[in-house]
Amino acid sequence: MAGGNTAEQCLGPVKICAAIAEARAICRLARAKGKRIGLVPTMGALHEGHLSLVRAAKTRCELVAVSVFVNPTQFGPKEDFTRYPRPFEADRAALENERVDLIFAPTVEEMYQAGETTWVTVEGLTEKLDGRSRPGHFRGVTTLVAKLLHAIEPDVAFFGQKDAAQLAVIRRMVRDLNFPVEIVGCPIVREPDGLAMSSRNAYLGSEERRRALVLSRSLRAVENSFRAGERSPSKLAQCGRAAMAQEPEVRLDYFEILDPETLDPIERAVDNTLVAVAAYVGTTRLIDNVLLRVPDRA
Ligand code: AMP
Repeated sequence: MAGGNTAEQCLGPVKICAAIAEARAICRLARAKGKRIGLVPTMGALHEGHLSLVRAAKTRCELVAVSVFVNPTQFGPKEDFTRYPRPFEADRAALENERVDLIFAPTVEEMYQAGETTWVTVEGLTEKLDGRSRPGHFRGVTTLVAKLLHAIEPDVAFFGQKDAAQLAVIRRMVRDLNFPVEIVGCPIVREPDGLAMSSRNAYLGSEERRRALVLSRSLRAVENSFRAGERSPSKLAQCGRAAMAQEPEVRLDYFEILDPETLDPIERAVDNTLVAVAAYVGTTRLIDNVLLRVPDRA
């Protein structure tokens, strides 16, 4: 059937879909053939951090779908939705190079029908960290991720530890709503000088780019203090905030020491405690974090 576009024929090299029904049909067909489906949700402007999720998905799944969608509902009215980079051709080439099976790149109208009034809201967790600084942000994220999970019906979905609060919120949503999917968190990929990779790094001028290093530097300072035996969350946070203050042009949003699952404050820092920072470098808001590790005494 020349020029046909059935789901069966789409199981070749990378297929680009804009329609939910088509993406779902492709994934269902693959699933019926015994393939495990992996989903990597992204907003595009792909970098090595995103590609590390894709590679993790490739090791675990026989069909890897990457969604590329700049989700309007997770941006505040004064945030960068309209100017967020959308280099679709470069993204497509990068994903083709990684041998991704499916790129799901819907329009806003495909993902959100006119007159929608339904939201997925995780309570509590979403009022902390980025949720506190960006009201409504996580409601947009969870609503979109729920829609993506319904569209692709993956067995496994891959998210970066870079967005630590987002990962906690999504794990909670999946648990609370019994989504039949495994959530895998992947480590933060950094530039050689320590800056966590982010699509928003493209906004930084060269002086801002230099200043932005203070985020990873402050996390390292806390790690070193923890390694040296400090266990008091307030002292560790103080150490991180002092390191952030070394770069007075960078405006701190939060620097917190928390439980990575509940995002609650803790009484004592332990293995896997989350140290999270957010700050404005110029007008660009950057986030970074680290999970503390008790030194291996073996
Ligand atoms: P985004 O396109 O910013 O929505 O990110 C899509 C996914 O990539 C999210 O799960 C992010 O946590 C993840 N991600 C973004 N930057 C990094 C990074 N530097 N290292 C690992 N994962 C990342």
